[in-house]
Amino acid sequence: MKDFKRIRELNLISKNKISDHMYRLTFKSNDLHDFSDNETGGYVKLIFSKQSPNSDTHLVRPYTIRNFRKEKLEIDIDIVVHNEKKGLASCWALNAEVGDKIKISGPGSKQKLNGSLDWYFFIGDMSALPAISVNLEMLSRNSRGIIVLEVLSESDKIKISKPRNFSIYWVINPNKEIANKLYKKVKSIKWLRGKPFIWSACEFSDMKLLRQYFKNIGVEKENIYISSYWKKNSDQEEHKLFKKQDNINWLKS
Ligand SMILES: Cc1cc2nc3c(=O)[nH]c(=O)nc-3n(C[C@H](O)[C@H](O)[C@H](O)COP(=O)(O)OP(=O)(O)OC[C@H]3O[C@@H](n4cnc5c(N)ncnc54)[C@H](O)[C@@H]3O)c2cc1C
Repeated sequence: MKDFKRIRELNLISKNKISDHMYRLTFKSNDLHDFSDNETGGYVKLIFSKQSPNSDTHLVRPYTIRNFRKEKLEIDIDIVVHNEKKGLASCWALNAEVGDKIKISGPGSKQKLNGSLDWYFFIGDMSALPAISVNLEMLSRNSRGIIVLEVLSESDKIKISKPRNFSIYWVINPNKEIANKLYKKVKSIKWLRGKPFIWSACEFSDMKLLRQYFKNIGVEKENIYISSYWKKNSDQEEHKLFKKQDNINWLKS
């Protein structure tokens, strides 16, 4: 059984800017020896300690395992350096240097796709780009679908490796200036024939609108994975509280 709570220490061995607002950080550690071969697409939590005069607390930030190379005991994590200068993880990533160390917990498992439907509908913002990229790389060559991606700038439109029969729609929304632009784009998309499996992760308010939209048009629960990865104007601690309450309300509705 996986021990999610086990703390591992990773060494940063390279850092590359892969787009305007995204860094790829590669970590190596013998502590990864018991990660299984298929952790790519799962997630880990980066652990940050926060010292205050009276206590020492730990804050965590979840990140997708973009690649795990078991033979080298290396993982890649793609981190959005968003424009909120106070983000614990994004500031750490921005300033991190090769040789730095970070503690993690995990791994948490990836969300399975239902491959028995007619096509796939992937929706996300930059925080979900790593997970969507992993999913696309794992699909069979003849699968079909639509991808809608919201990014912070034109130069964040990174090259996506995908099966040929997928169309990509990019939404550019610097600083999320326009509220719910991702949701509005999704609503405007003409669907392919048949039923899709929907995979979506994004900002909290977009997630709520999308979830309601898919419910209204009759998408069955088992054909959708939808999650918020962060919340505008809230840090991850506050986001988690909103998410928990929202889940309770949604299940009651
Ligand atoms: C399962 C899972 C997997 C994830 N995988 C990834 C991943 O691979 N790469 C990745 O970059 N993120 C990923 N995220 C999202 C990431 O954990 C959050 O964005 C996190 O809050 C960033 O932490 P922070 O310390 O930088 O900012 P916080 O301290 O949490 O927040 C500070 C401020 O920054 C804003 N903020 C936080 N995130 C963003 C953002 N993405 N864009 C714009 N503003 C933001 C908040 O609204 C707040 O105002 C994932 C989340 C989950 C739940």
